[in-house]
Amino acid sequence: MQITLNSPLDMHLHLRDNEMLEVVAPLSAKNFAGAVVMPNLVPPVKTIEDVRNYKKRILKAINGENFNPYMTVFFHEELTRENLEELAWEILSIKLYPDWITTNSEGWAKDILSDKAKEVFKNMEELWIILNIHWETNDFVLDREKNFVPIYEKLAQEFPKLKIIMEHITTKESAELVQKYDNLYATITLHHLYITLNDVAWWMLEPHLFCKPIAKRPEDREALLKLALSWNPKVMFGSDSAPHPQNAKESAHCSAWVFTSPVALQLLAELFEKNNSLENLQKFVSDNAKNIYSLSTDGFNHLKNIPQKTITLEKKDFIIPEKYGEVVPFKAGEKISWSVV
Ligand SMILES: [Zn+2]
Repeated sequence: MQITLNSPLDMHLHLRDNEMLEVVAPLSAKNFAGAVVMPNLVPPVKTIEDVRNYKKRILKAINGENFNPYMTVFFHEELTRENLEELAWEILSIKLYPDWITTNSEGWAKDILSDKAKEVFKNMEELWIILNIHWETNDFVLDREKNFVPIYEKLAQEFPKLKIIMEHITTKESAELVQKYDNLYATITLHHLYITLNDVAWWMLEPHLFCKPIAKRPEDREALLKLALSWNPKVMFGSDSAPHPQNAKESAHCSAWVFTSPVALQLLAELFEKNNSLENLQKFVSDNAKNIYSLSTDGFNHLKNIPQKTITLEKKDFIIPEKYGEVVPFKAGEKISWSVV
């Protein structure tokens, strides 16, 4: 059995920088036609120069592979109309990480709905720039995503023409909310379709499955699966694949995030086949994203261009490598039943 995917896209990806970029960028570029590249470097990608320079480094790392890195910048309140007009020619979207995820707990709602932030949202809405949000509060870990729902509702109502992507949704509440407003969309990762909190902390702690947002309850995973496996046009694949060296994961204060990009299509094929939905995989890994981001294969606008690329997957055993460079991938060493031809 085989399935051929046209121009698969990863709409949420971390490529990091320097040596790590050299290791992981070619792996994504091999299996995907394009990816939305997150801006959370140290220091973050904030200006048009940062975007241009980071894109150059990515293109160098992928060494001529037919792959479009869709660039993003870090949201901040100082983004002026002029900045945004200029950035609109270089980026596909703007990524907002609420400060309170890691820093002070008070005033988080004030931050995201401040007058200055609203001014930026208004300008983005008028310039058709898409907003991506890592949406968690700083509450009890299992409630962080759920408790962000009222803020999303406010944003969706106040800026009805602003396209808002709810990043890596993990709860049944998010799965419901995305369908409630026309301007809300969502990315879903591979690992949140596979794991629950039990996989992370069942008998022994599994650091390679520790991620943010943390994997949730079985009913949450079921709700995500239902959305992904159907032809629901509001959701798309975004791996949130992020590489950390083995020693940073297998340690006290283990870093969050899971590395999935080189094995994502194989594992998605396995999951969709198991659920008798293989015919919907094309929509989840490409067509929905194309519609949501108004991407095109005609090559007219480079920023929105989807490179023509076909990836054929075959039902044939594949043993996931123990490591890619120093990075341990999702399901390392396991035998799965789909491989890339
Ligand atoms: Zn991410």
